[in-house]
Amino acid sequence: MSGIQANLRDVEARIQAACERSGRRREEITLIAVSKTKPLSDVEEAMSCGMSVFGENKVQEMMDKQEQLSARRERGELSEDILNVAPEWHMIGHLQTNKVKYLMGRTALIHSVDSLRLAEAIERESEKAGVVTPILLEINMAGENSKFGLLPEQTEELARKISAFSHVKLRGLMTVAPFTEDPEENRQYFRQMRKLLIDINSKNIDNVTMDVLSMGMTGDYEIAVEEGATCIRVGTGIFGVRNYTTA
Ligand SMILES: *Cc1c(COP(=O)(O)O)cnc(C)c1O
Repeated sequence: MSGIQANLRDVEARIQAACERSGRRREEITLIAVSKTKPLSDVEEAMSCGMSVFGENKVQEMMDKQEQLSARRERGELSEDILNVAPEWHMIGHLQTNKVKYLMGRTALIHSVDSLRLAEAIERESEKAGVVTPILLEINMAGENSKFGLLPEQTEELARKISAFSHVKLRGLMTVAPFTEDPEENRQYFRQMRKLLIDINSKNIDNVTMDVLSMGMTGDYEIAVEEGATCIRVGTGIFGVRNYTTA
């Protein structure tokens, strides 16, 4: 068994166990394999283990992988077991407005919208491209200075503004919890995320019914599942540690 295959089995077992502990169904949770800095061969290997949802944090890297994969498909270089897999790509990293145009029609969900300016750029480019782009608002739940994201108290106002857009669909909220040795410390933030989502839904804003909670990474996804995550973003736990010096 390859490392990626063994890792995926382990992650899957942990998700199942967290579901059992919290009375949730496994189908409620999408596991996003975060392939940033990793080669396409790793993505293909994960695909042959049944994964079809991938997360990237840089527009260029996402496009490169998508293009390489289609080129390999066209040249008949893909292994038989992944010929019928149509991967879905999620943008999870901080996004500059001038990069938005490249993402149109290439991403299933943008997780990292944290300003009106960015939402407006997505609206504009989506309209030009004739698509509706699903997005999440990124929340800096712990109020860390080093992190991107809206403060929780800014969220409703931005949700109301976005609700008027016709080419952006607000689907939910995302957070990157603090780095910590003890994932239990992040439970409070995951709980607050769920509460914020329910809170905003209860305001009955036109066009805003959020059902996605993207939270939990390698260090804390089990806690996030227990607290209601519907998307977890796991990189290291699937692909191993990242080496940024060669990436
Ligand atoms: C890199 C990254 C992840 C995955 O992190 P791991 O700790 O390797 O699982 C998840 N979310 C975001 C936004 C990331 O940038």
